[in-house]
Amino acid sequence: MSINTQSFIPPKRTLMGPGPSDVDPRILQALSLPTIGHLDPLFVELMDNTKQLLQFAFQTKNALTMPISAPGSAGMEAVFVNLVEPGDKVIVCQNGVFGGRMQQNVQRCGGRAIMVQDDWGTATDLNKLEQALKEHPDAKALAFVHAETSTGVRSDAQAICALAKQYECLTIVDAVTSLGGIELAVDEWQIDAIYSGTQKCLSCVPGLSPVSFSDTAIKVIKNRQTPVQSWFLDMDLVMGYWGQGTKRAYHHTAPVNSIYALHEALLILHKEGLQTAWDRHAAMHQTLRSGLEDLGLEFVVKEQDRLPQLNMVRIPDGIDDALVRSRLLNEFDLEIGAGLGVLAGKVWRIGLMGYGANQRNVEYCVSALSQVLS
Ligand code: PLP
Repeated sequence: MSINTQSFIPPKRTLMGPGPSDVDPRILQALSLPTIGHLDPLFVELMDNTKQLLQFAFQTKNALTMPISAPGSAGMEAVFVNLVEPGDKVIVCQNGVFGGRMQQNVQRCGGRAIMVQDDWGTATDLNKLEQALKEHPDAKALAFVHAETSTGVRSDAQAICALAKQYECLTIVDAVTSLGGIELAVDEWQIDAIYSGTQKCLSCVPGLSPVSFSDTAIKVIKNRQTPVQSWFLDMDLVMGYWGQGTKRAYHHTAPVNSIYALHEALLILHKEGLQTAWDRHAAMHQTLRSGLEDLGLEFVVKEQDRLPQLNMVRIPDGIDDALVRSRLLNEFDLEIGAGLGVLAGKVWRIGLMGYGANQRNVEYCVSALSQVLS
């Protein structure tokens, strides 16, 4: 077998799929700065600053707020392996792909997942959820996806958490696609464990998963009867590395340059302000929406449940899904997303995330689609 010895030079794409999103050049620049030691006092200071900026982004005072050194799926896994022990019951809301992954996580921890199913493309139904909470008063936690990337649906995280708390459940939230794109308030909404990703509305490179655990969640972790089955994701051990003060115990080698990038992404968000970032996503969504509707494309999700950062439209009859996406990629360097699972071949998912939620991207996408569809 002959080895290709050429360096890889990626093309300059416009990323308007479900993630990763376009990365701000300022963040790419931060990524390429010289690597320093992961226990260098300057890096430890950067870790503290990054934690504070994450607390700001999540709107929390939770001391255990930090990025897991792995993608969103690892954040998901970290939350479940730490909070779920064999025999625990967890109510899981599913209305797309990612609720299904939560179910698998619960089961792999030896827990029992009580599923509350809603149709793909609709939000979690609070009445159904309350029924499940009544039927399972012994449930330890309730888990749901705030922004379902597979469908472009926003569930009412505040109302879901309020309901869970009435039934004394821990609240577990997937905020991979919501953080930085729509309103999210961890403390005010009483979220006990949350995970996100860097590659969506933070517009950072993929590969890190910001997480946050409430004091209640930490107590649950400290009082476990069984050890966490994952060594790498055991928060008790991770806390010794990402904990307070300058005395840090080596746990693993942090992805130093990725943390530079995340720090820069969070500085950008902090400078813009959360409300302004949410408003920008909403405004760009409205502009994209009118452009897509002018092309005759229909949104699938009910207006009030739509995510501004993930726009799911029906593929018109007679249109070849794969051909359109490959023409967009090859002729326009534009990536949009295909449908997932039961929606494969039926929809396109158009992302407007973080740095990519701008007028230029909206106009470029509408114009490229109009040329390919004509
Ligand atoms: N949860 C949601 C809602 C997601 O959209 C994704 C990724 O798209 C994940 C979890 C998994 O994140 P990652 O692909 O970074 O592992």
